[in-house]
Amino acid sequence: MNGGTPAATSKRLEGKVAIITGGASGIGATAAQLFHENGAKVVIADLQDKLGESLAEKLGEGVSYVHCDISNENDVIDLVDTTVAKYGKLDVMYNNAGILDRNFGSVLDTPKSDLERILAVNTVGGFLGAKHAARVMVPQQKGCILFTASACTEIAGLGSPAYMVSKYGVLALVKSLAAELGQYGIRVNCVSPYGLATGMSTHGGVDPALIEASMSQLGNLRGQVLKTDGIANAALYLASDEASYVSGQNLVIDGGFSIVNPTIMKAYNIIK
Ligand code: NAD
Repeated sequence: MNGGTPAATSKRLEGKVAIITGGASGIGATAAQLFHENGAKVVIADLQDKLGESLAEKLGEGVSYVHCDISNENDVIDLVDTTVAKYGKLDVMYNNAGILDRNFGSVLDTPKSDLERILAVNTVGGFLGAKHAARVMVPQQKGCILFTASACTEIAGLGSPAYMVSKYGVLALVKSLAAELGQYGIRVNCVSPYGLATGMSTHGGVDPALIEASMSQLGNLRGQVLKTDGIANAALYLASDEASYVSGQNLVIDGGFSIVNPTIMKAYNIIK
């Protein structure tokens, strides 16, 4: 055993410093709360200043907010440097911020500008977050870089072509950076959610209950609804020392949706 029994401590990130991008809303906001409850100093980075600031204030000591557009390298440099100046180190960089394209459209209806916009945030933003986290983690000889990708990295049909391209890019970052940065003791992983109700999926006033009902109905695992804590808890595990030898992994949280093609089982009435 490498370092005692992690489950013996209730604070699984005690003494760690974490940045969470997209931390003002949805999965990131839940992760900010959970990481904080587990003893981490948390820096929330987002574009939604009011939301981010009020969440940091609500969570209290050890949580702060920094405005950061992850697609802008100077903002990302400032985010990482501000965090290290404030807390002296960076243990966990959770590159979670992301966007959907304007419509869940066909490739034929996707303007080049939409593809570029989604790549700039989801893929380039993740790249920049990882790059500048690695800049400070390499001298530390340890660290954890996390991303939120998507279950669409496992199966088609969950996202538009542009979104899928952007999230496959995130998975490529996980694998290539896990390979490169392992020599410095840095672990790199991602969590990949199935659909759930958050800011992005309820944009425009869609009722979160409707999203949850339809995703559950279309999903594989019955009797459960995927909520933000289902993803944030997986990120917490990957960020903690319980995952000290886990690197290069895509932790898909989809209730088994992506491992089954139900058509034949339905035809034989094995599943409804
Ligand atoms: P959300 O909209 O509630 O949260 C995303 C946050 O990212 C927002 O606060 C937003 O302001 C922030 N953001 C967007 N662009 C940014 C930028 N350029 N710089 C900094 N912050 C920016 O949605 P969420 O579902 O919590 O999204 C979190 C991640 O989960 C995203 O990467 C998303 O692609 C991924 N994801 C979500 C779902 C889902 O169904 N909700 C499914 C699979 C993957």
